[in-house]
Amino acid sequence: MGKTGYFSHKDCWKHEMGPGHPECPGRLDAIEDRLLVTGVTDALTQYIAPKAALADIELAHSRLHIAAMRGLTDWLREEVEAGGPPYTQVDPDTSMNMHTWDAALRSAGAALAATDAVMAGELENAFCAVRPPGHHAMRDKAMGFCFFNNVAVAAKYALQRYNLKRVAVVDFDVHHGNGTEDILAGDERALMVSFFQHPFYPYCGDQNPAPNMVNVPVAAYTRGMDVREIIEMMWIPRLEAFKPELIFISAGFDAHRDDDMGQLGLTEQDYTWITQRIKDVARRYCDGRIVSCLEGGYVMSALARSVEAHVRVLADL
Ligand SMILES: [Zn+2]
Repeated sequence: MGKTGYFSHKDCWKHEMGPGHPECPGRLDAIEDRLLVTGVTDALTQYIAPKAALADIELAHSRLHIAAMRGLTDWLREEVEAGGPPYTQVDPDTSMNMHTWDAALRSAGAALAATDAVMAGELENAFCAVRPPGHHAMRDKAMGFCFFNNVAVAAKYALQRYNLKRVAVVDFDVHHGNGTEDILAGDERALMVSFFQHPFYPYCGDQNPAPNMVNVPVAAYTRGMDVREIIEMMWIPRLEAFKPELIFISAGFDAHRDDDMGQLGLTEQDYTWITQRIKDVARRYCDGRIVSCLEGGYVMSALARSVEAHVRVLADL
């Protein structure tokens, strides 16, 4: 089997936020179908994601937030059993169903288990095909389709469990990873590099970021070639100076030019290039150790092609 792991769990399909919601279970079907039909699946080692321990979720989230999510789940279950509606709204575009709690624990658990496998040398790198995504989830708050911050939980876990000194987070989703910033800003053991469309949801990230945040806001309609130049000039020197011992990727694919959630112009060739540059840094400084977690990406065909491009580079295909 390959040295690239693929982590997911069927619970990640059961969470859904209502008819027509873009962050839907079909996203995972599109990804799995594409990887299967192109033969990429054959090169990956499959893992069933465990549930994250609450003690590990607490490394990045307040007990109050965790209790609120659990409380909403218990309340919703009673409501549904009494014939009530199947969803409860946590922000204008984010809602929970009875399976959200389990799916969120599996998503974070995938990132944690992938971290363990990569740190043990069992895998060189891993891709977590999970939902709900995580990078908007703040220490105290669910928002923007996210409940627990999968990457931030795993980054804090890696620092603690393996006594690492330097963990990098790379975020190439079209939206600013405000939750990851909220959790990691000021923690000098972490370096976060990102670009994001601005001004755009969640309408922050451009003002006085902490010294360990390399936020690059870009205007709508920016092309992939310009994003590559930004990465070369703004990300790579900071990553090389930081010398990460492990790299996490918040892998959102909604900056694709076919994805109408955002207005950036990336293509799957750009995701190939970006992944290769991250992998170059990982091979140079940390034996190639990368844990990549799915974030956004809402047009099925573009999402599937982009994930294929990303995973092909991870798996050296
Ligand atoms: Zn996004």
